[in-house]
Amino acid sequence: MEAPCMNKLKQKEFTLASVTDLTSPSSSSPSSSPVVATFSCVNEVTELRFQESESSDDFSFELSSTQLFKLGPLQFVCVSDKDNSLSRGVVIMFRDDKESKDFSDSFGEWTKDAFKKGPGLPNGTVSDSTSKFDNKIEAASAKMYFHYYGQLLHQQNMLQDYVRTGTYHAAVMENRSDFSGRVVVDVGAGSGILSMFAALAGAKHVYAVEASEMADYARKLIAGNPLLAERITVIKGKIEDVELPEKADVLISEPMGTLLVNERMLETYVIARDRFLSPNGKMFPTVGRIHMAPFADEFLFIEMANKPVVDAFDPRLLIAPSMFHVIDFTKMKEEQFYEIDVPLKFTASVCTRVHGLACWFDVLFDGSTVQRWFTTAPGAPTTHWYQIRCVLSQPIHVMAGQEITGRLHLVAHSAQSYTINLTLSAKMWRPGASQGGILQTSSCKLDLKEPYYRMSQPQVYPVAQEPPAQPQDLQIQSEDLEEVELLQQNANAQL
Ligand code: SAH
Repeated sequence: MEAPCMNKLKQKEFTLASVTDLTSPSSSSPSSSPVVATFSCVNEVTELRFQESESSDDFSFELSSTQLFKLGPLQFVCVSDKDNSLSRGVVIMFRDDKESKDFSDSFGEWTKDAFKKGPGLPNGTVSDSTSKFDNKIEAASAKMYFHYYGQLLHQQNMLQDYVRTGTYHAAVMENRSDFSGRVVVDVGAGSGILSMFAALAGAKHVYAVEASEMADYARKLIAGNPLLAERITVIKGKIEDVELPEKADVLISEPMGTLLVNERMLETYVIARDRFLSPNGKMFPTVGRIHMAPFADEFLFIEMANKPVVDAFDPRLLIAPSMFHVIDFTKMKEEQFYEIDVPLKFTASVCTRVHGLACWFDVLFDGSTVQRWFTTAPGAPTTHWYQIRCVLSQPIHVMAGQEITGRLHLVAHSAQSYTINLTLSAKMWRPGASQGGILQTSSCKLDLKEPYYRMSQPQVYPVAQEPPAQPQDLQIQSEDLEEVELLQQNANAQL
């Protein structure tokens, strides 16, 4: 038998910065003097008592029927739902992170004890101190990541991507019926731009959840639009950790990274779906696709082999029709993002040396009125994602009509990115070779977190009427270089 609570936990006090009573309209402003919150066990009942220092007012919550919702690093809502009716709610503010964390830990300990004795909550415990995010992502990576997004400069870079921001705006405004009168959650709200679009389209309420310091700016930016501000609540915290007071009809988010999956924020998006979206709710965007095609680029190969390279390239460098891999945000489980395996099969359109696999993505906004695709394809208006090319360590040689097979194997790592394992194979063609020939295979292992950003130096490609010149043999290292030099001269001549 469990020992009574008094024997296990010592009475514990916390001095709070303020307490605001949500249930009493007369006292809806924060307390004027400091309030002490005390966990204790009185007559076998565990309780949390609030006592204002300069007032005789005090009240207590029975912990077996109390839930704690984290609104931000220093802010919680404490709700008592005795007899299943919300009888009292207070917003509590802490003076610093440490007190806030200690309080949340104590709440966990004390409620655990209370539940052993009490009837328990129908919805279970809500104050879970182990975060799904922290368990899989290195603290150092997360710190850098949220520091980056906490800077206006980087939010500005995304806002200024007109193709991106304009497409989101269009997708929301042309699907007003999906937003009008609905509850929306903006997953990773950043500057709050998508929340404002949703509010403009008539959302009843938008919860803008943002983990970085940008949440404070978002609050200010949103407050600057008073008509929208009354329907938007900014919540500072991770999607994985925060609690929201109601379910959402719609999720809106821009969780895409390079190669769609970089940054591992799609996992956050589907966690938001599982935590906050009503069963028939909508997701904007709904589906994503990774597109892939082999490319030939002698310039790039000389410059940088065995590396993921980010730049905008001429689609004429693609040597086969592309294929795609679908990721359905409405169905994909979080764990399915940990390892993504894509079998590859292409038919070469030209005779050439293949230097790697080019990738880009698109996403679908499956609105009730309009279905809109947003693409980052080569040749389409350039976005801040550009495209990514995985450059092999060795090229492979193909003839027109020849089949290229392979595998793109992505393994998530704890620095919010992926290890890319790429293999491309083709049967080597030689005059007189019997059917089947010799299998050429080239592989590479690349870290998506560390690409080579090449777009700062725009490349000039010769406007070739014919496919790139073909080497006659595999062992022609020096001739290859000459060929590249020749192409380079042609390119320079065109400048
Ligand atoms: N929605 C904004 C910002 C997109 S960038 C826009 O479209 O302009 C992605 C944002 O999500 C960043 O600001 C980042 O800090 C935030 N984010 C990433 N992971 C998060 C998580 N787990 N919880 C909350 N916010 C997150």
